[in-house]
Amino acid sequence: MPIYIVLLGPPGAGKGTQAKVLAAEFGLPHISSGDIFRENIRTGTDMGKVAQTFISKGELVPDDVTIAMIQERFSRPDCVAGAILDGFPRTPAQADALDAMLKHFGGRVNLVPFITAPTEVLIERLAGRWTCRAAGHIFHERFNPPQKTGVCDIDGSELYQRDDDKAETVMHRIEVYREQTAPLIDYYKNRGILAEINGFAPIGDVSAHLMEVLKRQAEEE
Ligand code: ADP
Ligand code: AMP
Repeated sequence: MPIYIVLLGPPGAGKGTQAKVLAAEFGLPHISSGDIFRENIRTGTDMGKVAQTFISKGELVPDDVTIAMIQERFSRPDCVAGAILDGFPRTPAQADALDAMLKHFGGRVNLVPFITAPTEVLIERLAGRWTCRAAGHIFHERFNPPQKTGVCDIDGSELYQRDDDKAETVMHRIEVYREQTAPLIDYYKNRGILAEINGFAPIGDVSAHLMEVLKRQAEEE
C-alpha cells in the first residue's frame, strides 16, 4: 500500500526540514509545492510568472493553478509508492483535490503530522533561513548553520535568503495560514489522522518524535 504523509503547520514550523528527513528515511519523494513554484519562477514558465505575483505578496497561489501543478507532479511514476507532501494542501479545496488524486493510485492520506511552534519562534526562524539554490536544502544561520557561510553542505550550491522571508511578508504569510490553512487542522482531526508534533524542540528531537508517530501509525494500519 502506498503511504502519503501531509506535513501541516505554519510557515517556519519546520515542515521542509522534517520532510527531507522523512523522505530519506522512507525512500519516498518529497513534494514541496513552494519548491516547485520557485523552480518555475527560476526557469520563467508561464505558471511561474503567475505564481510569483502571489508569492511575492505572501498570498496563496490560486487553487486552480496549484492543483493543476500538483496533478502534473503526481503524474510522474515516483509518486506511486507514496510521498511526503510539504506545503500542499493549504486550503480545504486543495485537500479535496488531493483525495481525488490519491484515489486514482488506490491511496489516501495516511497521516497528517501537524507541526506547531509559537509565532515569535516562526518569525525568528524565517528571518534566519538560508535556502539552497540547487535543491532547496534548508539551513538556519543560528539553529542549523552550514559549515561554510553561504554554501550548501549537501551539494555545494549557493545559499540565499528568500524574498518572502522578509519580516513584513512573513507576518502576512502567518495571517494567511491562520485564515486559509488552519481549517485543515479540524478537517484532518475529524478523520482521526492528525498527529500533533511540538515543533519547538531541536531538529533531531522533532524528527525522533515524527518517526515514533509514523511507526505507531504503520503498526495500527
Ligand atoms: P517550513 O517548511 O515549515 O516553512 P523550514 O523547515 O523551512 O519550515 O524551517 C524554517 C527555518 O527554521 C529554517 O531556517 C530551518 O533551518 C529552521 N528550523 C527548522 N526546524 C527547526 C527546529 N526544530 N529548531 C530550530 N530551527 C529549525
Ligand atoms: P513555502 O515554500 O511552502 O513556504 O511556500 C512559499 C509560497 O508559495 C507560499 O507563501 C505561497 O505563496 C505559495 N504556495 C506554496 N504552496 C502553496 C499551496 N499549496 N497553495 C497556494 N500557494 C502555495
